[in-house]
Amino acid sequence: LIQLYMPLNFMGMLYREIKQALIDIGEIFEILSRSPEIQDVPGAPPLVVSKGEVTFEDVHFAYHPERPILQGVSFSIPAGHTVAIVGSSGAGKSTLSRLLFRFYAPSKGRILIDGQDIAAIQQTSLRAAIGMVPQDTVLFNDTIGYNIRYGRWDATEEEVIAAARDARIDGFIRSLPEGYDTSVGERGLKLSGGEKQRVAIARTILKAPPILVLDEATSALDSFTERDIQSALERVSRGRATLVIAHRLSTIVAADEILVLDQGRIVERGCHLDLLARDGLYAALWNQQREADEARERLKRVSDAE
Ligand code: ADP
Ligand code: MG
Repeated sequence: LIQLYMPLNFMGMLYREIKQALIDIGEIFEILSRSPEIQDVPGAPPLVVSKGEVTFEDVHFAYHPERPILQGVSFSIPAGHTVAIVGSSGAGKSTLSRLLFRFYAPSKGRILIDGQDIAAIQQTSLRAAIGMVPQDTVLFNDTIGYNIRYGRWDATEEEVIAAARDARIDGFIRSLPEGYDTSVGERGLKLSGGEKQRVAIARTILKAPPILVLDEATSALDSFTERDIQSALERVSRGRATLVIAHRLSTIVAADEILVLDQGRIVERGCHLDLLARDGLYAALWNQQREADEARERLKRVSDAE
């Protein structure tokens, strides 16, 4: 029975993930189409990044007042460190990144970058300082080269290629009929989830922001692609304050600190081994995921055998 149940459970998981991806995309359009409710205060100075340290200070937030999402979240990402956020779906993980980008403002508490409250600085300078590798990269209907160069328009050809190489996508691009001039997106070549994510990583490497947010893809990647992406992500996060919104726990084992978010609060924090030893929520998530991974592998073996 368990052999039957696990794949079904996995299909349910997949369904929820697809649904969430659609919600995320809808939300981006909503944010973009709405006239920004969050305005710069008059004469707001640009952000000055010295070290690139991010601090959340007792942050509270609700999309609708009657339903609090974050209830007093505090943590710091020291310059060059990686902090990972885990928690069940709907816990408020992506909300943290939206607040960091100032798509929304906390109802209480502050978010600081190198000591500057992000509510008091120019938004354009804030967004220029943060690189984002989203859950689902939407490519422009243009060439793959254009899609990478989007990270920094004045990048040279050599820099674009170097970024692609670091993102482990250069070899793939060279294998395409028209190389970097190949059209991609809706009306061009369709790339797989893993390929799109590596384009996003190349873009971010080119942008070279002091602060990085990685919202990991929830979709199942084969383990070869996953290793490739993992090594690309490690390269891009090196030396940058990095916030990882983690879905695949295997990717955050090496994080400097892991925060477990539950019902708007950080309920556990520490490194991977400490949290496993606590045998609490993190350990439960870890075991749950291992079972899902095993089911996925089993499913794959069955379909490969057919
Ligand atoms: P996670 O990334 O941990 O899965 P989110 O931060 O995306 O969770 O969302 C946290 C909660 O806030 C969820 O219950 C979600 O339904 C809700 N939520 C997310 N975006 C909005 C929105 N734009 N308006 C209202 N509720 C939202
Ligand atoms: Mg999310």
